[in-house]
Amino acid sequence: MIQQSDIFACKQCGYCCQGETTVSLDEQDVKHMLDYLKMGQSEVAAKYWRITGTTIQMKTVEGCCTFYDQGCTIHAGKPRRCSQWPLHPSILCDRANLKTIRESCPGVNRELSYEEFCDKLHTLLNEKEES
Ligand code: SF4
Ligand code: SF4
Repeated sequence: MIQQSDIFACKQCGYCCQGETTVSLDEQDVKHMLDYLKMGQSEVAAKYWRITGTTIQMKTVEGCCTFYDQGCTIHAGKPRRCSQWPLHPSILCDRANLKTIRESCPGVNRELSYEEFCDKLHTLLNEKEES
C-alpha cells in the first residue's frame, strides 16, 4: 500500500504560499471559496482577490498569499491548484516538472528516481480519483 508520505511530507516552510502572485482561481475555485467563506462575491473580491482582466488571483501581503498565516488559513476553501501542490499530475508527463517542483518544495522526496516517483504518484492519483 502506497502512502502519500512515501513521496511527499510537508515541511511547513510556506514557500509555496510566497511570492508576488498566487495561483489563479477558475470558476469552480471561485464558487468553492465563496461557499467556504460564506460571503458575497463583491465582498470577497474587494477583500481577498487581485483581479487582472479575467484573471482572479489571491492578493498578496508582504510577499505572501493573503490567506497565509503560519500555514493556510483557508485550507478547506483553497483553490484546486493549491490542493494539488506539489503532487501535480504534470509530473507524470515530463521529468523536468518533477525537477522544478523538487527545487521549489523541500517536502518532495528526493531519493526516488523519476520512474519510481511517477509509479507511486500514478497509484496515489488513481486512488484519489476512485475515492
Ligand atoms: S513548499 Fe512544500 S514543504 Fe513547503 S509548505 Fe509548501 S508544500 Fe509544504
Ligand atoms: S490559498 Fe492557502 S495554500 Fe493557497 S497560496 Fe494561499 S495560503 Fe497558500
